[in-house]
Amino acid sequence: MKHSESKFASDKLALLRSKYRVQVLPDWGFENPDGSGAWRQGTWSKTELDKLQNATTLLADLMGGARKFTKNLGSVTVKKSEMGTHGGEALIHEISFSSKGSFSAWTVIHEMAHAWDANNDWKCSVALERYTGGYTSKFFSLIRKLFGKSDCGISSDEEKPGRRGRLRGCNAAGYFYGDQPSGSNWNFNRREDFAEAVAMYVGWGTNNELSAWAEARIKRYLLKNGASHKNFGVDNWADYAEYFYPPGGDYTRTKRWKFVNDLIHGKVEVDA
Ligand SMILES: [Zn+2]
Repeated sequence: MKHSESKFASDKLALLRSKYRVQVLPDWGFENPDGSGAWRQGTWSKTELDKLQNATTLLADLMGGARKFTKNLGSVTVKKSEMGTHGGEALIHEISFSSKGSFSAWTVIHEMAHAWDANNDWKCSVALERYTGGYTSKFFSLIRKLFGKSDCGISSDEEKPGRRGRLRGCNAAGYFYGDQPSGSNWNFNRREDFAEAVAMYVGWGTNNELSAWAEARIKRYLLKNGASHKNFGVDNWADYAEYFYPPGGDYTRTKRWKFVNDLIHGKVEVDA
């Protein structure tokens, strides 16, 4: 954040805090708390604050307004921090974005969904697992990895097409997803499933910052085996279509879309 943008930034922070109880921890500002010393730009940009606000508004509007949003998520602290290869992380009441690169609107919604789940004792993802007919079993997962048709190794995925652990139970968590998620990999579990399902719901057919990505996530299964996608790389897309490509390519026909829609409209109860 440039010094010239500090007024913009503090107004934005005040709005996010008062309206949505989203508290951004600034990493910019003067060296000393009394306003002396050199200006430190930090890693946040004006564009990122806009992106954060837009995504927050998008989710809050879908939920029925700022009051519903704060009821679902509680207060949330948002910060930048050093992290590995992924772009974001969420705990109860806290979201971190990688200080190395920028983040997308998709990542904001994904992490906010985790914060929502966390604020409800992670029962949103348990409810999604149940609603979609999935279950988690390390035992059955091991059986599948040892004796069944699996697309991963015993203790990890493999960095090649058709071996990234996208089938049911072929992941670290032993997660057997039900119905059709928009994708799966070795790190998939019911919490990641919930976060991705919320992001898909927000983006699907809604013409916003998440929509192109939501559509690309589904359309990749129309590719041939071995085809390369600019964002998703090479995989045996056609083989995976039966697990991830919804009827007629219409994501609203999946149980996940219906679940998030029901949850947002208070038709599924998640007792916290
Ligand atoms: Zn996640």
